[in-house]
Amino acid sequence: MESDRIAELLFPNIDKTPEYYEEKYPERDLPEGAMVTRLGPSPTGFIHLGNLYGAFVDERLAHQSGGKFFLRIEDTDDKRYVEGAVDVIINSLDFFGIEFDEGATQEGDKGDYGPYTQSLRGDIYQCFAKKLVAEGKAYPCFLTEEEIAEIRERQELAKVTPGIYGEYASCRDWSYDQVVKALGERRPYVIRLRSDGYPPEAYINGSDDKAIKKIRVKDAIRGTLEMPANFLDTVILKTTGIPTYHFAHVVDDHLMRTTHVVRGAEWLPSLPIHIELFEKLGWKPPVYCHTAQLMKLDENGNKRKLSKRKDPELSLDYYRNEGYHAAALREYLLTILNSNFEEWRMKNEDAPIEDFKFTTKKMSNSGALFDINKLNDVAKDVMLKIPAKDIAEWLRSWSDQFAPEYADMFEDMDYLEKILDIGREDRKPRKDLVYARQIVDFISYFFDKHFKIEDQIPEEVPAEDVKKILDAYLAGYDHSDDQNGWFGKIREIATDLGYAARPKDYKKNPDDYKGHVGHVSTVIRIALMGRATSPDVWTIQQIMGEDMTRARIRKYIEENC
Ligand code: GLU
Repeated sequence: MESDRIAELLFPNIDKTPEYYEEKYPERDLPEGAMVTRLGPSPTGFIHLGNLYGAFVDERLAHQSGGKFFLRIEDTDDKRYVEGAVDVIINSLDFFGIEFDEGATQEGDKGDYGPYTQSLRGDIYQCFAKKLVAEGKAYPCFLTEEEIAEIRERQELAKVTPGIYGEYASCRDWSYDQVVKALGERRPYVIRLRSDGYPPEAYINGSDDKAIKKIRVKDAIRGTLEMPANFLDTVILKTTGIPTYHFAHVVDDHLMRTTHVVRGAEWLPSLPIHIELFEKLGWKPPVYCHTAQLMKLDENGNKRKLSKRKDPELSLDYYRNEGYHAAALREYLLTILNSNFEEWRMKNEDAPIEDFKFTTKKMSNSGALFDINKLNDVAKDVMLKIPAKDIAEWLRSWSDQFAPEYADMFEDMDYLEKILDIGREDRKPRKDLVYARQIVDFISYFFDKHFKIEDQIPEEVPAEDVKKILDAYLAGYDHSDDQNGWFGKIREIATDLGYAARPKDYKKNPDDYKGHVGHVSTVIRIALMGRATSPDVWTIQQIMGEDMTRARIRKYIEENC
C-alpha cells in the first residue's frame, strides 16, 4: 500500500512496533475501581495554584481508590523550558505534601511506565505516528507558513472556517513519489491527523449528513458533554519530530494506563481532537475531569480569573515564602474543591482529611472561587490543631529556607513552644497563628533582636505619667505574683495616679478621671511588647522571665521618659 511505503520512508529508524509498546506497558494490575492519575506540568519555572489544585484532585482520586498517581514532565514545548524547573515542580509539590507513587523524581524515573519525561519518549511517539501514517490516518504535510497564511486568506474571503482540513489540506493525498520528491528537496514537514470530520458550514448547509457528527464524552465533573466532532487535520508531530500536546497526551495516557485525566478547563476546546486521536489509534479514552478555572473576587466584587501578572498568590512560591502550612492549604483546597467538605468538617472536627470521601461529582464546574481571607481563616483553625512542638519545628525549617534573619528564635525551643502555645488551651482558644511570616512577626517581641516599639502611648496618659506608672510598676513588681495579685497592683497604680480602676467607672464619669486601668496597662504593654494589643500580659511576663521583664521596663524609662 502507498501509505505503508510513505510511513517507512518517513520513519526508517523506527523498528519497534505498537505491539511491542502495548506489551511493554501492560494494563496495570490493580484492584477493581482503582484510579490511575497523573500530573503533567510543563517545566516553565512557574508552578501555580492551579497545578496544586489539580494535583490534589489527582492525589485524592488515586489514593482514595487504591490506585496510582504519577508525575510526568511535559517538556515538548521547548520554548517554555526553564533550567532547574523540574526541581521547582518536585520541591513545591513535596512542600505541600503531594506525594507521587511513580514518575519523574530528582533521582531519575521511578516506575515501570517510563520514561516519564516527554522529551525522552521520541521513539514512542514516532512509532505511533508511523502506524497512523501507514494506515492512512495521518500524513506528512509540507505546507509552508506562507502557504498556510494564503489558505487562511482564501478562507476568510470565502467566509468559511479557517484551518487545514478537507479540500484545503493539499498534502492529504500525496503519492509516494510526491513525498519522495519533497523529502529530496529537504522541505520541512509536519505530520497531520487526517480527520474524518467536516467543518460547521457543511452542517449548516445540510449538505452532508456526516457533518452533524457530534461527540459525547462523559466528564466526571461536568457530566455528559456534547460537542461537534473534530474536523481539523491537527498537527501531531511538529517539523522537529516533537509531538504536540494533543498527540503526546493521547499516546502517553494510553501507554501509562491513566484512567482519569484531571486537567484545566482550558483544554475543553481541544477535547474533540483527543477523542478522534483515541479513536484512530483504536484506544479507549480515559475518564476526563476538566476542573474549573480558579477565580478571585476583585476590588469591585467581580469574579475574575487569577492572573500571573496581577496576583502574586497564584504562584505556589508565594505560599512557601509566606510559610503557609501544607495542612492549611490542603484543608482550604478541599473547601473549594468539594462543596460538602465544610459540612463534613463541622461534624468531624478532628478527623484527618483523608477520611473525607472526595468526589468529582461535588466539584464546581463554573469557576472555583479562591479567597485568601478564607484561606487565612481556615489556616487559623488548622494551626490550632497542630501541637506547639510541631509548629516550632516547622517554623524552624521554614526560617532556615526563607527567613534566616529569624534564626535566633530557635535557640531555645522550649521558650518558643511556650510562646506559640499562649492562649491555645483556653475555653475560647486564641487563634493567633496563621502562616509562618505572620507568626514570626506576631511573636517577635519575645526576642530582643526583633523587639521594637510599634505603637503609641494612649492619649489619655500624659507624658509625665508614663514614667510614674513604669517606676511604680518596677518598684512593686514581684514575679511570683499570681494573675490576680499582679493585676491588683496595676489597679493600685491606676487609682493612685487618678485613673479609674474599672473602665466602666470611667465611661460613666469621664470628667472624674484621666483615663482608666486599661490605659495604664497599655503603657506597660508598650514598654514590654512595643504593642498596644497582645495576649495576656501576665502570661507573657511569666514566659519572658523576670530579667527580661524588668530590663524592658527599665530600658523604656531610660530611652523614652
Ligand atoms: N502540560 C499541560 C499543562 O501544563 C498538562 C495538561 C494535562 O494535564 O493534560 O497545561
